[in-house]
Amino acid sequence: RAKGNGRNSYQFYTEGMLDQEVRRLELDKDLAKALEQDQFVLYLQPQLNLETMEVASAEALIRWNHPERGLIPPIEFIPLAEESGRITDIGRWVVMAACRQLAAWRNGPLSQIKIAINLSGRELDNEDLVDHIQRALTLYQVDPRQLEVELTEEIFIQNIEHNRNQLMRLHELGVHLAIDDFGVGYSSLAYLRDFPVDLLKIDRSFITNITERPDDAIITRAVTNLAHNLGVKVVAEGVESEEQLAFLKGLKCDFAQGYLISRPVEARVLEPLLQDNPQFKLALTEQS
Ligand code: C2E
Ligand code: MG
Ligand code: MG
Ligand code: MG
Repeated sequence: RAKGNGRNSYQFYTEGMLDQEVRRLELDKDLAKALEQDQFVLYLQPQLNLETMEVASAEALIRWNHPERGLIPPIEFIPLAEESGRITDIGRWVVMAACRQLAAWRNGPLSQIKIAINLSGRELDNEDLVDHIQRALTLYQVDPRQLEVELTEEIFIQNIEHNRNQLMRLHELGVHLAIDDFGVGYSSLAYLRDFPVDLLKIDRSFITNITERPDDAIITRAVTNLAHNLGVKVVAEGVESEEQLAFLKGLKCDFAQGYLISRPVEARVLEPLLQDNPQFKLALTEQS
């Protein structure tokens, strides 16, 4: 930006950029209140086991129910929270909320379901993270094998020693570990060798055109076979059509997640979907 331009010194900002910056600043301020005022909501998106055609797990995806702006998606506040450091407290809330949900389901038909939570690199930096997870599991008497942690590839290339240690500790607790968005980052095979990984989630960008683009199919097939040979299970992200689902079944992919099965929804919406509505499972079994 040019100096000495007096009142014209904003000339290099378009109005849109300013609006965006103002919105970011306001949101960050509101974020501080959000935890106190209990404005976060845990949405859950089911993951379908392609062998049994049953839902065995769900991914926890956070939403912010802002008093004036309504429901805000994570993309609009997670990066902000990572910058300001508020992500640590948000992550702690997510861990507690997931365990609370598992406890609420313990004595019903969903007693065996798993919940996967997302953790960013910044959250893994926190020395107290593993102890916090341990405390949540104990408080709600949750079997650690019912909790999964999804991590994106950045955590395998930054702060490696520390992160490996954190993941070893989680693994020793019995918590399962998943690599999220696999294929779009560095996709180093060394992660699968050096870290105690249980699951690999193939990024949506490989699934979207899997039935039309041979390259996407070849990559998905190869990654799935490799993972299986290493004892790692595979989840396909972003499954939106019956054709994709059938194709993934053919590749022996283990789980599918996406709008076809269900959008992320609140727990009370998921419950009847999984329990009282056999049509939900039937519809998928019939057509694949
Ligand atoms: P992710 O972990 O890769 O989650 C998958 C995203 O894809 C979710 O977006 C989900 O709603 C969306 N999705 C699922 N199925 C489909 C589909 O069939 N088609 C399309 N187009 N999209 C689909 P969402 O909920 O907006 O979350 C975005 C990202 O925000 C997540 O990506 C994750 O990285 C992050 N995130 C969400 N919740 C948390 C959290 O509690 N903590 C942290 N650290 N990050 C979170
Ligand atoms: Mg995820
Ligand atoms: Mg993902
Ligand atoms: Mg993602």
